Amino acid sequence: LVEFDGVDKFFGKTHVLKNVDLAIEEREVVVVIGPSGSGKSTLLRCVNRLEEIRSGDIRLDGQSVLEADVNEVRQRIGMVFQSFNLFPHKSALGNVALAPKKIRGLPEDAAEDRARELLDRVGLSDQTGSYPEALSGGQQQRVAIARALAMDPTVMLFDEVTSALDPELVGEVLDVIEGLADDGMTMVLVTHEMGFAREVGDRIVLMADGRVVEVTDSEAFFERPETERGRQFLSRLL
Ligand code: ATP
Ligand code: MG
Repeated sequence: LVEFDGVDKFFGKTHVLKNVDLAIEEREVVVVIGPSGSGKSTLLRCVNRLEEIRSGDIRLDGQSVLEADVNEVRQRIGMVFQSFNLFPHKSALGNVALAPKKIRGLPEDAAEDRARELLDRVGLSDQTGSYPEALSGGQQQRVAIARALAMDPTVMLFDEVTSALDPELVGEVLDVIEGLADDGMTMVLVTHEMGFAREVGDRIVLMADGRVVEVTDSEAFFERPETERGRQFLSRLL
């Protein structure tokens, strides 16, 4: 469903993605791990063209994202970051309903019905009228996930979505992501939550220094990584 084919990315002279090949199947949950600066965020950002690549290709559903209209590409990809970036002057409902109204031209009540459904799915049916400042970090992040789902994306990308949260709020966000996995959503997630990676991930992608150094089924990766890099990475976690 998402294919990286010999992807190279530079920031100036710095080579940050080096000949990356990776194919993510429909309904698969792929967890990207690796040291800081290894290129995990950049990998995700290239998919919806927040970053442009130097060479290679990235395909979504068989179609090159480089050739497609950038707005169309972004509508088909739901992305959630560490910082929630909700619109502060809009309620939870308003945040989730906005893109379907503005971009898809959905009538107000249809957009809001759908937004209510999505807020219910992330466990926030009692907070639809709340403004971001009145919500906890975990609640805000769940609104951000509902907002990303509102455009019915083909794939969801999550970049360290729990890193900025107080520890006691991490679980509620991970539960929502696990629910999406159970519903068969195709997802790529960057996370430091290794227990979660093992439980919810189908495959683990280990990055180091801009390269994909190992791709292994998640259970097997945590039992017995295939590469020395994988072994090193795990031993540092202990
Ligand atoms: P972390 O775990 O810290 O989030 P990461 O694996 O997500 O790290 P990236 O953010 O993708 O790593 O960064 C990969 C490399 O690209 C790093 O060397 C980083 O310094 C560099 N880099 C990232 N963004 C930019 C930018 N906008 N301009 C220049 N260099 C950048
Ligand atoms: Mg990052």
